[in-house]
Amino acid sequence: MILGALEAGGTKMVCSIGTAEGQVLEQVSYPTTSPEETMPKIIGFFKDAKVDAVGIGCFGPLDLNPASPTYGCITTTPKLLWRNYPILAEMRSQLGVPAAIDTDVNAAALAEATLGAAKGLDSCLYVTIGTGVGGGVFIGGKLVHGLVHPEFGHMLLRVEADDPLPHGVCPYHDGCLEGLAAGPSIGERWGKKAYELAPDHPAWDLEARYLAQMCVNAIVSFSPEKIILGGGVMQQKHLFPLIHRYVLKLLGGYVQHPMILEHIDQYIVEPGLDTKSGVTGALLLARDAR
Ligand code: ADP
Ligand code: ZN
Repeated sequence: MILGALEAGGTKMVCSIGTAEGQVLEQVSYPTTSPEETMPKIIGFFKDAKVDAVGIGCFGPLDLNPASPTYGCITTTPKLLWRNYPILAEMRSQLGVPAAIDTDVNAAALAEATLGAAKGLDSCLYVTIGTGVGGGVFIGGKLVHGLVHPEFGHMLLRVEADDPLPHGVCPYHDGCLEGLAAGPSIGERWGKKAYELAPDHPAWDLEARYLAQMCVNAIVSFSPEKIILGGGVMQQKHLFPLIHRYVLKLLGGYVQHPMILEHIDQYIVEPGLDTKSGVTGALLLARDAR
């Protein structure tokens, strides 16, 4: 089977050809402009490759209710040209092959649970901290959709007293995770790009406290067996030990499990698939597409 994987992002569309085992054979990328301009390039690439099925890991929010007439549409995105765009239906009708869609982070969570850091586990949380923050949730061997789908980035946090940007930058919420801890908020708060800040800059201690709050909220809400943190901001590997320490402090000994009390460095971890979680997840969605 030749599988197609589309990682649909707000700035670029990454199209890959690969195998059901998650191996990538070929990859191209197109800027995300308008559907009229971008979609024909994507469709053309997958047509030329003669794919047997396509999986889409897409920026959201998305309609993922199979019973809905707008199933597989992008919904209230701030990218106005893509609002209400039926990306799944277009791919299906233009390519004439099975296609499946999920959020980009659910795809990454699926890949990490199948082949990565949470391989063999029944549950995990995958969170990307990049231009935005998003979380994919895998429980009982399945991706969680629920009413809509998880929106980890917009979890409300307790604002830290020493934060010089206490409201964050989310246009919707005062003090949400994405507004306080995504790459652009770090840049706004300290007047420098996140990747330009030295490892001993106070930015990182504050960042670790916010990410630790998120991890604690996840642990006490649905008890994932592994928390995987990816995305550009987590290239700052020194964040991990700080996050571990703050999670233990915030939990206050309440959750008595050796995975947390003794092995937190193996509990909150980097992706096992490095930067390939998204593409691998989209290939797995393609493998199972109907
Ligand atoms: P996206 O979220 O757009 O898919 P990334 O996950 O690469 O892409 O995230 C980009 C964001 O991460 C930017 O805000 C950037 O400032 C930040 N970033 C990228 N690399 C680093 C780094 N090495 N250290 C800290 N922040 C980084
Ligand atoms: Zn928000």
